Amino acid sequence: MTQYTPQPTKLETSGGQGYLRVATEEAWWPQEVVAVYRGMLERGEGGPGFHSLIGHYLTSQSDRAKFVVSRLADTGELRLADMDAAGVDHAVLSLTSPGTNSLEPALGTQVATIANDRLAEACAANPARFSGLATLGFEEPDSAVKELDRAINQLGLKGVVCNSHIRGRYLSDTAFWPILEAIEACDVPIYLHPQTPNDSMISTLLESGLDGAIFGFAIETSMHALKIVTSGVLDRFPKLRIVLGHMGEALPFWLYRFDYMHKGQVVSKRYEAIKPLELTPSDYLKRNFWYTSSGMPWGPTIDYVRKVVGADRVMYAMDYPYEYAPDEVRMQDQLDWTLAEKKMFFEDIPVSVFGLDRDAMTS
Ligand code: MN
Repeated sequence: MTQYTPQPTKLETSGGQGYLRVATEEAWWPQEVVAVYRGMLERGEGGPGFHSLIGHYLTSQSDRAKFVVSRLADTGELRLADMDAAGVDHAVLSLTSPGTNSLEPALGTQVATIANDRLAEACAANPARFSGLATLGFEEPDSAVKELDRAINQLGLKGVVCNSHIRGRYLSDTAFWPILEAIEACDVPIYLHPQTPNDSMISTLLESGLDGAIFGFAIETSMHALKIVTSGVLDRFPKLRIVLGHMGEALPFWLYRFDYMHKGQVVSKRYEAIKPLELTPSDYLKRNFWYTSSGMPWGPTIDYVRKVVGADRVMYAMDYPYEYAPDEVRMQDQLDWTLAEKKMFFEDIPVSVFGLDRDAMTS
């Protein structure tokens, strides 16, 4: 049985254990975004999920909320000290949820540009420790495609973050396909990151206190990924690379059932939305998706996902600052794998999927 409680070892950066540790789902926000969110909260905008999530973090006086809010805004002393203490060499930063996805379209476009500029500045100030993913104003596809080009080719960002649903709409919607086409053409990954469930699915979760990271985020985000699969997006854009956190939001657990039920639904023609695909659903989940261990440091889960999707698709993430527990790094350091497997998980797959500059990390 994989240990729950890791051995007390010293966590250090610089690769002394045989690999660098690259954390790939690390949250951040600039003050401009905080100001936009505060205004939305005051005006009652953004929906119940936005108020549950951002309303909590921006008003709670709990130690946890204060920790999260202070660290989200920091790409200097506080964050670096936490990374050092946890042995994290390099963090791939992205605009925290809901990012621009809860904003009115024009504001989303405007805020994406500012956020990408700020993130690129933070990465340029410390390329050894930080890379970043671009955010886009998804509801204005023409502008989003231009911003993608600027963010990747001028600002040097390494991919795109999409904080799941876009005011209740999903990337399976053909309105967003020009953006997906451009992301595929750029050959960068898109990190499909959780956010609060959309307005039409949140109420029963909210009344149970299950709308957040404990469960609601995962069911909303896994549904989003599955909608991408069943809508045929990946037949149209077969080279699209999608990264899912939290060990794939539990999708790998369902592979057999997705294939079985999808086949039956295609045959019965029960739903307009369920059409024949070139591959089985599980094939796409093993061809177009990569998986990170954000918030899921538990060995049995990681080993299971590696077994069913392939060890070359599973990599490390922390989910800082929402989840900051150095012992979770130890748990993953002490998994029963060869050194080469650990290097693949912590270093080689992140470097390869996000096109990171390994030399910059060690300079
Ligand atoms: Mn996260």
